[in-house]
Amino acid sequence: MIDHLPERLDLLATAGAGRSLRGSVPLARLERVLPALASSDGELQVEFELGRDPGGIYYLAGAIQGDVAVNCQRCLEPVKQTLDLTFRLGLVKDEAEMAALPEHYEALLVTAEPARVVDIVSDEVLLALPLVPLHENDSRCQGVLKEYQPQADAVRESPFAILAGLKQKQP
Ligand SMILES: [Zn+2]
Repeated sequence: MIDHLPERLDLLATAGAGRSLRGSVPLARLERVLPALASSDGELQVEFELGRDPGGIYYLAGAIQGDVAVNCQRCLEPVKQTLDLTFRLGLVKDEAEMAALPEHYEALLVTAEPARVVDIVSDEVLLALPLVPLHENDSRCQGVLKEYQPQADAVRESPFAILAGLKQKQP
């Protein structure tokens, strides 16, 4: 295990050599993830293992751990999200290789350019973030919910009101 994550990685060469790397990635460097976050403070612990499996497939097995803050969609205050991700990417050069990839791999298209580590991390984090983050068991957030309760009751009663209205209009 090498305690260093380079900026860029020649994925196929590294997988051919068989290497394990780890390091930390500051959230502030994940440009594509930042719009989804409430704060850019903090960092993620990242581990990459690159190699060739017995079937000859070049792969990147990874793990990402750390806390991020996203905005609760009920009260709009930050809510902590703990990431503990593992993933297994098959390194493919074209669509034919992608189609032939065994099911337990996600495809990662390798280009001539060495891959940016922050791009790989960003993709995995974006996939893992909840679409609608919400506080759980937070009294302040639940308080906001209670304020909406009367409206919910009104909506529930409205079908009867509509029915009554229809009956009056009938000849
Ligand atoms: Zn909330």
